[in-house]
Amino acid sequence: MPGKRINPNLIKTHYSYTADELAKRLGVHKNTIRNWARVGLFFLPGRPILFHGGTVRAFIATRNAGRRAPCPPGTFYCFRCRDRRKPALGMIDFIDRLRGAGNLMAICETCGATMNRRARRDALAAIMPGLDVQIRQRPPTLSGSPVPSLDCTLKERETT
Ligand SMILES: [Zn+2]
Repeated sequence: MPGKRINPNLIKTHYSYTADELAKRLGVHKNTIRNWARVGLFFLPGRPILFHGGTVRAFIATRNAGRRAPCPPGTFYCFRCRDRRKPALGMIDFIDRLRGAGNLMAICETCGATMNRRARRDALAAIMPGLDVQIRQRPPTLSGSPVPSLDCTLKERETT
């Protein structure tokens, strides 16, 4: 059934489902659930194997999003709005990961949810043209920032 869009809200976030239950709940074939597990849907090993509702919802949402055209430059996909959104105040953080690849983060202009988007560092200008992208390293380095020490405070007290 190509093109069939599944509604992730049919799943309860704080509930675990067997493959059968999931299939029934979502109106898909059990093999679809098996396929998802094969392509990366996380499940809890055991007998029967269980799928955590929150994980399934996120998986379906990502899958639905991936089916659409990619977000045009300057926008993110907001999972709460379930649509493309602009970053609030045009502010974006880029968190550097490995080898120039990283994560773009911004706040949804409409609903205030955090939005994420993967990006290559050298493609930032193309993906977020004219927007204020703050590059952050991971982990953040605190060395070099002036930290008031307890010692100083004590000395000041002694002299006054
Ligand atoms: Zn939103």
